[in-house]
Amino acid sequence: MNPATLIENPDVVLIGSGIMSANLGALLKRLDPSLRIQVYEATTGLAQESSHGWNNAGTGHAGICELSYTPKCESDGSVNVQKVIDIFEQFEQSLQFWAHAVASGMIDQPQDFINPVPHLSFVHGQPQVDFLRARHAGMSAHHFFQDMEFTTDRTTISRWAPLLVAGRDQTPIAATKMDRGTDVNFGTVSRKLLAWLGQQEGCGVADGHRVVGLTKSGPGWAICAKNIATGHVHATRAKFVFIGAGGGSLLLLQMAGLPEAKGLGGFPIGGQWLVCDKPEIVSQHQAKVYGQALDTAPTMAVPHLDTRVLDGKKTLLFGPFAAWTTKFLHREGSWTDLLRSVKLHNLTTLLKIAWGNLDLIKYLVQQGTQSMADRMKVLHIFYPAAQAQDWKLIDAGIRVQAIKRTDGEAGIVHYGTEILTSADRSMSALLGASPGASVSVNIVLDIIKTSFPHLFATENARLRIKELIPTYGENMRLPENAARFRELQLRARQALQLV
Ligand SMILES: Cc1cc2nc3c(=O)[nH]c(=O)nc-3n(C[C@H](O)[C@H](O)[C@H](O)COP(=O)(O)OP(=O)(O)OC[C@H]3O[C@@H](n4cnc5c(N)ncnc54)[C@H](O)[C@@H]3O)c2cc1C
Repeated sequence: MNPATLIENPDVVLIGSGIMSANLGALLKRLDPSLRIQVYEATTGLAQESSHGWNNAGTGHAGICELSYTPKCESDGSVNVQKVIDIFEQFEQSLQFWAHAVASGMIDQPQDFINPVPHLSFVHGQPQVDFLRARHAGMSAHHFFQDMEFTTDRTTISRWAPLLVAGRDQTPIAATKMDRGTDVNFGTVSRKLLAWLGQQEGCGVADGHRVVGLTKSGPGWAICAKNIATGHVHATRAKFVFIGAGGGSLLLLQMAGLPEAKGLGGFPIGGQWLVCDKPEIVSQHQAKVYGQALDTAPTMAVPHLDTRVLDGKKTLLFGPFAAWTTKFLHREGSWTDLLRSVKLHNLTTLLKIAWGNLDLIKYLVQQGTQSMADRMKVLHIFYPAAQAQDWKLIDAGIRVQAIKRTDGEAGIVHYGTEILTSADRSMSALLGASPGASVSVNIVLDIIKTSFPHLFATENARLRIKELIPTYGENMRLPENAARFRELQLRARQALQLV
């Protein structure tokens, strides 16, 4: 990595070097080359937190396999597929921007960060088989998912993913498959985009620099960033600040004293994976296989058996197992983070949430105290012949779910992603983590639209956005756009070497 570079009084400060800041910085600079942008990252090295390859599942969430996005059958037996259509379209925007970045030479070697891996949903028991059949009927009727396959045939499932079938009892099973799924190393794509940004005129990327001060100053912000190695504090000003600090965002929002953040709290959920690198097992599985949520598990703890491609090596990953933690960041977090986030303005909401979610808290404590044998029981639901000695347990990233007041209610644990923008639009922050990295380009486009409206205002500006994201502003869901959508999708996939 290049040495940390610091610039004076930039237009934009991005806090954090994960996938959100990386996409936002690269898109902004592409849309307005005159912008001066500074990135501060607390860790040594970039994108070492949630976006790092081992800290998330690397699923390019496109709604194909994740059963939690499709509610149960309606009274007429159909399944509402609106949300998966939304997520598919949003992920497609990420693919298009990264394809543009490759095609225009901003970044290289897409196989370092994205690889084709089929996405499967897998269920067992007759009620779930009926649900999956109805979900497939709803989804394959739309051109986004028209090549999705459904089967209850064991031989076919065994061909798709042999580990799912070997040694299984006679309970009915079913699966769907789409070959156009992906495995993404969000950390690598972040580092590539930030390396490009750091080489641009008027831009600086400084790792090892923790933001320790954020104060309103005229129309913009005064920012202090501490060099972790030397203790030196770099003070600067910027017109716009993006808090893309992942789990660290809530504490920074509180530091900035944004009235919009009053009452907000955070609830950290840790994660763990089982990992297998035995070549004779890894070579038998080439898929991301998602199942149904177990018991009281929150949606982000739905287990899946995944092929991962990290640093050119294939591995199998199973989980996540949720875990109780009070840290907001995996690497740079502190056990006091949760306590420090409790303020007078969010105390009541947090207490009410805790009271209203005792089952979830019990679930997290129980998950954290599981033995290897307990974890293997869950793995056997997917891979009946799995042996404990082939798997090791590692830590995953931490998700800090936003907790907010709702009208008249005690509050909710918000599992989605939340963009918070100050009234004068000089600061935006991102809270929450699902579906997260996959839809990051769509999320940062919303931030740009709100705080840099001039970049969308003219016909020329719109044309420039369409160079970066060709489907931008067009409704690709409409059946009459199916052919154009397929053409643009193919072009992006070719650039990313996915076909
Ligand atoms: C277990 C797990 C599985 C997941 N699986 C998937 C998946 O399969 N697909 C998917 O799309 N998404 C997945 N996600 C979500 C995804 O990882 C996140 O949405 C995404 O990585 C968030 O990116 P970010 O840039 O907001 O945050 P991060 O990548 O966490 O980056 C934030 C950065 O800010 C830095 N920072 C914090 N405080 C400061 C400070 N004061 N000063 C300077 N820097 C600071 C941190 O060090 C960090 O590098 C998963 C998440 C988890 C935890």
